[in-house]
Amino acid sequence: MGCIKIDKKALFHNLDLICSRAGGSHRVAAVLKDNAYGHGLEVIAPLISDFGIKKAVVRNLQEAERIERFFEYILVLADIPKKTSKFSFAINSIESIESFPKGCFVELKVDTGMHRSGISPLEVERAVEKIVKRGLILKGVFTHFRSADEISPEFFWQKRNFDETIKKVESLRQEFSLPDILYHSYNSSALFRSENLQGDFARVGIAVYGYLELDPLFGEPDLKPVLSLWASRISSRTLKPKERVGYGGVFEAKGGETVSTYDIGYADGIFRSDGKRRLLLPEGVEIAGRISMDSFSALSDAEEICVIKDAREFARFFGTISYEVLVKLSPFLKRRVVQ
Ligand SMILES: *Cc1c(COP(=O)(O)O)cnc(C)c1O
Repeated sequence: MGCIKIDKKALFHNLDLICSRAGGSHRVAAVLKDNAYGHGLEVIAPLISDFGIKKAVVRNLQEAERIERFFEYILVLADIPKKTSKFSFAINSIESIESFPKGCFVELKVDTGMHRSGISPLEVERAVEKIVKRGLILKGVFTHFRSADEISPEFFWQKRNFDETIKKVESLRQEFSLPDILYHSYNSSALFRSENLQGDFARVGIAVYGYLELDPLFGEPDLKPVLSLWASRISSRTLKPKERVGYGGVFEAKGGETVSTYDIGYADGIFRSDGKRRLLLPEGVEIAGRISMDSFSALSDAEEICVIKDAREFARFFGTISYEVLVKLSPFLKRRVVQ
């Protein structure tokens, strides 16, 4: 059966690197949204917790509940609970404050320049007043960078905007006698491009899984891919000259090739290759023709072949980024931790 292998050594290696950059595991929140970037939430969460990281970031309440026993702190990025919960919930717009149940832990997302979601720095005062009036507990204030992976002054411009916001929030905190507030802004790229981490912790996603889409001029940290995707052989045949393989018969044999069909297809989340460009798998095996829904054919007779080892290479072929290749992997694929 096709499966995903999770390399525990690679994961711990990446976490070591991340924690030493951040200044300790208490300064790292692992971003586990979207099924832990396709790696499998229930597989990754206990490993991260065993390593010693006690903070996690997820997309919705359902994800938070699935991993609550592994973490002391969980931030939910995009959900509003019906009743008070022990998790923290991001406030992404000023209007949504009314929808949070009283006593809920909230974190204010500030739009320091990405203009995707969050509250304008000009509205922070109004937002904090509304939070207090509504009886919510303001546990954190955070922002997200739009260009931390690129060489440009934008990163510094957003950081400055956030620093000013922090000053404003701190004075409101005194005014309303609120307890300490967590401030956080760094993602993987920001952490690896900066000398030191600013704020209480970094929200690290892609680097946990072994990748960075960071301009190489910032240096290339030694991160290792955690996931690999494997397919198993279903059947094999030897082709005669001019026999053609798969939908549309796009691949044509010279004669004598051994072709096998493997049990991974685009229903499992890999992209569909139309067979017009030559797609080589990590061990140099060539895909023959189009990728089908539940299978593909390749010039090999191996029992098991690796389909994805470095998601960046697979991404390059399809004109996208590692993030997209990873998160698209089906949650139904079996995950196996290898030591
Ligand atoms: C996804 C996400 C992150 C993690 O980003 P990486 O580039 O994967 O490190 C951090 N913060 C927020 C708000 C996010 O949505």
